[in-house]
Amino acid sequence: MAAVSSRPWPFKTIFITGCNRGIGLEFVKQFLSLSNPPEHIFATCRSLERASELKSLSEGSSNLHLLELDVNEIETFNQVVSEVDRKLEGRGLDLLLNNAGIVDRSTLDQVTAEGMMNVYKTNTVAPLMLTKAFLPLLRRAASQRNNEDSAKTFIVNISTILASIAENTGTMYPYRTSKAALNMVTKSLSADLTSDGVMAVALHPGWVKTDMGGQGGNLTVKESVEALLTVIGSLDESKNGGFFDFSGKALPW
Ligand code: NDP
Repeated sequence: MAAVSSRPWPFKTIFITGCNRGIGLEFVKQFLSLSNPPEHIFATCRSLERASELKSLSEGSSNLHLLELDVNEIETFNQVVSEVDRKLEGRGLDLLLNNAGIVDRSTLDQVTAEGMMNVYKTNTVAPLMLTKAFLPLLRRAASQRNNEDSAKTFIVNISTILASIAENTGTMYPYRTSKAALNMVTKSLSADLTSDGVMAVALHPGWVKTDMGGQGGNLTVKESVEALLTVIGSLDESKNGGFFDFSGKALPW
């Protein structure tokens, strides 16, 4: 984590989805171990009852707030935002990290309309609608900045190289298309929110050894998130609207 701790971590208030396991859980662990940890980390999972590792992280960490959120339950988003707003006591949200996602690798023979729509809802519609719900808090964070170089407001959408149309070698219809659409959402957000001082990027975490990535992945979850923290920690205006991998390399759309 040397690369991360060598510069001050710029995001003081963070909201992240899908923290029960995998990349989301590791993000929470590494946020907590930063040399200047965020003042408020809102980590969400579908069921606190099943999130024993996440719950154990919150013991003794007063800056970690756990909330239940199923991202498919879009009608609950405003209530979650209200809870976050109450805890923030007038501050804004610096970083919204849309991490929760599902995979469906169906081939052309296997793909169904229902499969396409399920994945689209979780991977594309939910991050967009959650972002919409958080806009007042994101805009507030941007408006409260006092020209500090290190301060910024970002939406980070966890995408994948499999979303790249230029690199597409076929199959995996639901997953590829849902994340390609998420990339489009990211680009649109970056354009629409520029005047508010809110920026957006799509990041590919690498092929990571998680339940989703499987044991064949190239990176451990620790390696992936360490690298992502370096990329996220150094985001600035020049990156707004971009698609990058865990090493910070720009990826082809
Ligand atoms: P995992 O399958 O290990 O974890 C997925 C997480 O998303 C879990 O916490 C899961 O919650 C949560 N989740 C799924 N559906 C919902 C929902 N409806 N509401 C709330 N939470 C939900 O995946 P990874 O950690 O590997 O993936 C994290 C992100 O990284 C995903 O967006 C994925 O597409 C992306 N990614 C992963 C790669 C990899 O190689 N692993 C490569 C490229 C991108 P629960 O535990 O309750 O099921």
